[in-house]
Parts: sequence; structure tokens; C-alpha cells
Amino acid sequence: MIRCVVLVAAAVLVGFVPNAAASSEKHILVGVGSADGTPEVAQVNFMGYAVLAQVGEGLHQRLRARAFVVEEPSSKIFAFVSVDFGMGAHTVTTRALELLNTDAKTKGVFDYTNLCISGTHTHSSPAGFLGKVLFQITSLGFQRTSYEAYAQAVYKAVAEAYATRSAATISSNRGLVEDANINRSPTAYLLNPAAERAKYPNNTDKEMVLLKFQDATTGAGIGMLNWYSVHGTSLNNTNKLVSGDNKGYASYLFEQAVNPAGTVTGEGKFVAAFAATNLGDVSPNINGTFCMDTGLPCDNLHSTCNGRNEMCTGRGPGKDMFDSARIIGTRQYKRAMELYTQAATVVDGTVDTRHTFVDFSKFSFPLPMNSREGGTNGNVTTCPGAMGYAFAAGTTDGPGMFNFVQATNTTNPFWNAVSDLLSKPTKEQIACQHPKPILLNIGEVTKPYDWAESVVPLQLFRIGDFFIIAVPSEFTTMAGRRMRERVADAVIKAGLSKKPTVVLAGLSNMYGDYTATFEEYQEQRYEGASTIFGPHELEAFIFNAVRLVNDMASGKNPSDTLPAPGFDIKKMIDLLPKWDYDTVGIGKHYGDVTVQPQGTVKRGQIVEATFRSANPRNNIRTGGTFLTIEKFDASSGKWNVVANDGDFDTKFQWKLESKILHNSFATIQWEVPLGAALGEYRIQHFNTHKELLGGKLVDFTGTTNSFRVV
Ligand code: ZN
Repeated sequence: MIRCVVLVAAAVLVGFVPNAAASSEKHILVGVGSADGTPEVAQVNFMGYAVLAQVGEGLHQRLRARAFVVEEPSSKIFAFVSVDFGMGAHTVTTRALELLNTDAKTKGVFDYTNLCISGTHTHSSPAGFLGKVLFQITSLGFQRTSYEAYAQAVYKAVAEAYATRSAATISSNRGLVEDANINRSPTAYLLNPAAERAKYPNNTDKEMVLLKFQDATTGAGIGMLNWYSVHGTSLNNTNKLVSGDNKGYASYLFEQAVNPAGTVTGEGKFVAAFAATNLGDVSPNINGTFCMDTGLPCDNLHSTCNGRNEMCTGRGPGKDMFDSARIIGTRQYKRAMELYTQAATVVDGTVDTRHTFVDFSKFSFPLPMNSREGGTNGNVTTCPGAMGYAFAAGTTDGPGMFNFVQATNTTNPFWNAVSDLLSKPTKEQIACQHPKPILLNIGEVTKPYDWAESVVPLQLFRIGDFFIIAVPSEFTTMAGRRMRERVADAVIKAGLSKKPTVVLAGLSNMYGDYTATFEEYQEQRYEGASTIFGPHELEAFIFNAVRLVNDMASGKNPSDTLPAPGFDIKKMIDLLPKWDYDTVGIGKHYGDVTVQPQGTVKRGQIVEATFRSANPRNNIRTGGTFLTIEKFDASSGKWNVVANDGDFDTKFQWKLESKILHNSFATIQWEVPLGAALGEYRIQHFNTHKELLGGKLVDFTGTTNSFRVV
């Protein structure tokens, strides 16, 4: 009691208002962790747009895994990890669990039931880490380096969060983020019932839901986690620099603001995650769609320019795509900071988890009474995965260039190798997927290995009145709303909470494409065409989510489940050519500066230098950097690092000069921040070359002349 009084007094002094949880003996434990997961940044295809030509040429911002471990002592524990990758993946979860369970410190703590990995859905992260053929076509197969880098980052972040967990208080807040998203399939949205639409002011969710984590003793903030609906597509399919896009930037800003001044990017203890939710039909390109050739607005109904869909793309709000990522990221960051500062709703009580694997290629279940989908409590089923025609058209965030229907003309060697394996849909499959015209009958092809997922995970986490339902899919706006509402109803009905907050964690643990509502499915825009398990997919997810809620209420544990799907890495095809040597030219040296930075530069301007370099695939420099921006400190005579390649203001661009000689250059740019201190600076480049004979890896460094920020 005395201890509590002292703590309260101390807390009041530092401006921390203690809550009921803070003064009780039993605290929830929370730990946070963050780790670099940047894989090869050159020559590897990016995940999301499925554009063969979008292969890496360098790095804009490092990709991170951000973990939050929550534990009710002597009861349940879970880890929620938001990753700057395209999406969660069963391969990555499986590998991360393998790593966690071979580390003596985390052995036996985490399994499929209580580890959630949710992708922010940046479209500027390397591809090839998903285990299914469809997602390996443009990446020329399975990319082990990406898969391993992602899994290692999750493992390190979770291990750090687990090791640092301590008594914490959790509070929540929610509020609107205006002007940061737009619906990219508004005509499909309009097919949802008028009465249902009337319940919501917008055709996208504008609300951000946020959790704030504080040390229970000192009140110091340790982490922030929020969910807001927007695609990671501010950077379009012409971008070739690895980046966290708008959510990566928002995390970077938040962590910079809260960690002590001068903290090198990536080394701060405070972790801020901007996680994905029901972003399926939600774009950050809020100015609308324009033709890339003419600059005129696209045809509204079909999203085309002169009848061609390739030229129509979303735009805005910035002067270029990096500016757009900056603006959309800043809007999320600013609102999150307000919500974080004012968060006052205590989140405390029982911590619990439930999980299930369900076969969605043939899941039969009763529709609820009065269901919009036909509803007289008759049984319906989901179908083996299939993509409709609109899938190949892509979206206005990235028009499709898959050329599926012209497989015989393609120059993609991976596609050539597998194109004749596609199956014709059966009559039953056509009827099951109706009205989807089936372009790719992926769910029924298993050669050379599976083309699509069929057994999918669903996960439910609870902290008191706060519930997280994690889905392996991109839910559209209305699909997410229905899921949240029905889970909340079930929670209330089961007596778990009178006033629950339910958030949907999208793109979690596996990638099962999109989930549109039954009504949206009828229009077969991109999201409907990519709802691979058929028209009743959403209801099937809801049915199983309600089952998990009821299990949680009744104490049934574990929930009924199929075994975890297997993943045989030995089967995976990889056709991406290996990199076997670099050269630099006679009399030249790696790290030589071929273009020096300009002598003086103003704040807000870009300073640039070019070095003789080598392929960055030689060494991905996990937790390190390809560059530093350094400021001279006259009093100590030392150069201090002010920015690295994890910063949003720096860009590392790699250019291969000759495909035969393998000589290459690195150009490093720094957009001098408006708040940069005046003075003398230099740029350093760090890389590794591979010797022509023997393939030995040798590190090198290049250093520019100094320049002045004036
Ligand atoms: Zn998407």
C-alpha cells in the first residue's frame, strides 16, 4: 500500500496518471522488440504489383519487424508482430517458430496459436517468400534470402520483446484520420445494402484504433501499436528502391519523435507499429486515377485509358510518389501521436488466445438466419481457390501486366516452366465460384507444388475488453466491418465483455488473397476476382471467428483445428540467377568516388555522390547500413553519424554498368532535413565485393570530400 502511494506520488510528478491497473498487484507484462529484416535489395522482384520489371535497384528505407509480447502472468501469452513486408506468410511463421523454439530463452513459449505476424503490405519489399506458385511467378521462384531475412527479423524482434517484458499498463484510444485513404472500387462498395451503408459516413474506414504501452512503475512509454486501413502503394510499380512506404515512414517518424534525440535509426528502444487492417479496397492515392501518358483522368467505370488498363494509375497527394508516401505517412503519424498522448481507456484483464486451421477449399457451414446470402439456414460451401479475370487487370494502384492469357509469348522463364500445368475448372468448381469467370483455377493445381493456399489460419487474441481477430487475407472495408461487428456481437452474447473493442489484423500469418463481401463479389472487380474461395468466403471466416469466441467463453482449449499445413523448402524452385563475381576495372578501386557531392547544399535540397561499387546482394548487412551521412564535430575532431540507410531522407541506388564485366556504381542521395544542423558533412558508402576468382567476399568503404550545409 505504501509502495503504491509512493508510486502514485512519483507518477504524478512525472505527469503520469495511474489507473486501476497500475495500483493493483497483478500486472500484465509487456515487452517490445524491433529488428531489421531487409533482404537482398537488388535484382529481386518486389511483392504486390506482380510486375516482372519491378526488380530492386537499391534501398530507400530498411524493412523492420516490430514485436509486442503481452502476458498475463501464470496464464496466457501472445506475440503480435507487425512487419514491413508485403504480408504475413505461413513459410515465415513456420521458420520464425523454428528459430524461437531452438533458442533456449524462448523454447516452448510460442507456436501457431499465439504468434501473429501481420504484414503492413508495403509493395516495395522483395517477393518470393510465399510458398505457393502463383506468388512466385514474377519473382522467378522462391527467394530463400528474403524468406530467411524476414523470419530472422521476426525471431529477433519477438525474442527481444520476450526478454524485456515487464509490468506494464495498456491504454487504448481511437480517432479519425481524414484525407489519408480512398476507396479504389467504389462501384463494388455500392452493391452492399443501402441500410448497411447508411450506418457509416464513408466508403472506407477512417478510424485509427491505437494501443499505448507504458512501464507500470515509471509511466514511461515503451511502445505504440495501431491499425488503420490503407494500402502500402503510395510508391507505385515504377519504384525500384526497397521501402516501407507510407506505414514504414509513419513508424520511423513516431520512433524518432519518442526515442531520445540523436538515436541512430534502428537503435531506439521505443517501438511504434502502424499495422494493416481491412485495407482490401483502400488506396492511399487520394487524388484519383489518371492516365500515365496523357495525364488526363481515367475512364471512371472501367479504370482504363483509351480502352487500355495498363496506363491508368492512382495518384497523389504529393508532387511525386515519394512525396505522397511522406504525406500519407505523416498524416497517420500525426494522428497516432495525438491519440497516443491522450489515450485514457484502460485495457486490462484476462489475456487469452485461440487459433484454428480450416480447409477453405471445401468448408461447409450453415448461413445464419436472414443472411443476405440467401439465408434460410441452408448449408453453403467455400470452393477451391480460383482467380477471376479481373485479377489479371490489377488495380488502379498498380495495373496488371501479368499477361496470363498470353502465356505462350511470355519471356518469363518461371512462367514458361509452369504454364502448362494449369487445370481446367470442373463443372462443380464453376458453379461454386459463380458468378466469377475463372481465369486461374489455382486451387486445384498441385504441380510442381501448390498454387494457392487451401488450409488457412484464423486467430483471436484478447486483452480484457480488447480483441484482435487476425485474418490471412485482405478484407475490403465492408468485409472488415461485418467481421468486427459479428465478433463483437458474439463476444457480448458469450459474456466475455459488455463493451468490446474489436480490431481486424489483416494479412496475418498466411496469404489467402482478398475477401470481399457477397454483394461486392457479384461485380467481380479486382477484389472480388481475388476472393479465391468463392462468394461465401467472408461468411466462412466469420463463422469460424465466432466459433473461436465461443471456445474462449466456454474454456474449450485448444479449438478444433486441422494440423498446420506443411512447407517443404526442398521442393521450392528458384530461377533467379546467382551473383558470382564483381569487377572494378584496372587501376580503379572499390569505393572510389566518381562524382563528389556539391561543395555547399541548403536544407531541403538533395546532395548526391557516386561510388565505384559492387552488387549489394553479396552482403545484405542485416542491422548495418550501406551508407552513413556524417557531421564533423570540431570539438572532438570526430565524424558523427546523423543518418543511415534506414532513414527516409537517404536513398541508395545501385546501377550495374555491364552485365558481362559486372562492374557497378552506387549513388547515394541525402535530402537534407529542414532541421539539419549547419556545418561540415561527408557521405560514406559500405559494401562488399565478390572476387572474380574464388568468389571471396571482401568489404570496402568509400568516403566523399566534405561539403557544407548552409
Ligand atoms: Zn493488396
